[in-house]
Amino acid sequence: MINNPSVLNIDPNLKSWIPYSEDSDFPIQNLPLGVFSRNQDPKKLCSIIGDQIIDLSSLAGLSEALGISNSFFTNNSLNPLMAHGKATLRNIRRYLSEVFSTQNLNRASFEKSLIPRQQVELHLPIQCGDYTDFYSSKEHATNVGIMFRDPANALLPNWLHLPVGYHGRASSIVVSGTPVVRPAGQIVSKDGEPPIYSKSRQLDFELEMAFVVGKGNDLAHPIPLSQTKEHIHGLMLFNDWSARDIQKWEYVPLGPFLGKNFCSTISPWLIDLDALEPFAVENPIQDPQPLDYLHQTGKNNYNIELEVLLNGHPISHSNTKYLYWSMFQQLAHHTVNGCNMRIGDICASGTISGPTPNSYGSMLELAWKGTKPITLPDGSTRVFLQDGDQLELKAFAQGNGFRIGFGECKGTIVS
Ligand code: CA
Repeated sequence: MINNPSVLNIDPNLKSWIPYSEDSDFPIQNLPLGVFSRNQDPKKLCSIIGDQIIDLSSLAGLSEALGISNSFFTNNSLNPLMAHGKATLRNIRRYLSEVFSTQNLNRASFEKSLIPRQQVELHLPIQCGDYTDFYSSKEHATNVGIMFRDPANALLPNWLHLPVGYHGRASSIVVSGTPVVRPAGQIVSKDGEPPIYSKSRQLDFELEMAFVVGKGNDLAHPIPLSQTKEHIHGLMLFNDWSARDIQKWEYVPLGPFLGKNFCSTISPWLIDLDALEPFAVENPIQDPQPLDYLHQTGKNNYNIELEVLLNGHPISHSNTKYLYWSMFQQLAHHTVNGCNMRIGDICASGTISGPTPNSYGSMLELAWKGTKPITLPDGSTRVFLQDGDQLELKAFAQGNGFRIGFGECKGTIVS
């Protein structure tokens, strides 16, 4: 049995005997968890270094070192493993960092568990019962307020006092690579005229970061802000596809519904908060100071660079450090009324827009409500997404000589 470390910070100078380049998303300091299958075999849990999938179910000595049954690793989701507790998850990363480090000269027995990335299919790694979407970027909320309400009062009165959110739909969260079918619904094509039934003409993306609940809370037992970190296992990249025309007609007065719940794309790897801890930064200053249950100090945001590519062409660069409300405040607020969270629940940040026009996290803002079309290298322009377009989100925290990357989060629009 390995000793339980309180926090696992893998030495930034550690090297692996598995080769990878400095710009790989998956150095030995990352060690995310995922679910894979090969050919017609059942799904199993894995990690990754460079472009080598690590089959945890066959990794020599792992279940013995952890003192748990190997059946945890022949599972089709990470939920049972997360239920086992953070100490077990930390010990997995510790074990992987030891056996795949260059300091380990006994490599043959571990090489047998490596599979090239291109030989496997990656799946949604968690079983998600509930999904909540926040609205925590001040820049995004301000931009939307300017476009659709009043430039002088862009933020609604509650926004600076609580992390605004809505309950989304978990059933339509899909793993990266799944085609995105253009939704149909009620739209009003001309102001003042009755609605028509139509395919959406204003299909958009939303650049978001999601956290995954690794430890639940009982009904009527809120999670205090000081304990929220113990309840969050890690982060995943999230695209909250949005049909703006459906959304615009339906959202009053109860908020987003069919304009959002037709599909959300998530990246296949769960990035451990421990791996991101060296990249923690302070939040933007919160003024007015929030109520006591949301009052935080220290470093509660992360410096994670974000990029958006449309048909391979970069159209936006942002960063999770711009988020006004931290994920810890989001979780404390979500449970302050006694709402119970369960293992595998996903909470997304809301669109992460930065302060400048090249850092906006949606087509709505990048093309400013259709008034500033984006020009692509082939000369074509976009104000919203067209059929056949591929939209990809990328994210990484840059270390010295390595980066903690999130893998791909992409989808192609089909009619
Ligand atoms: Ca959203």
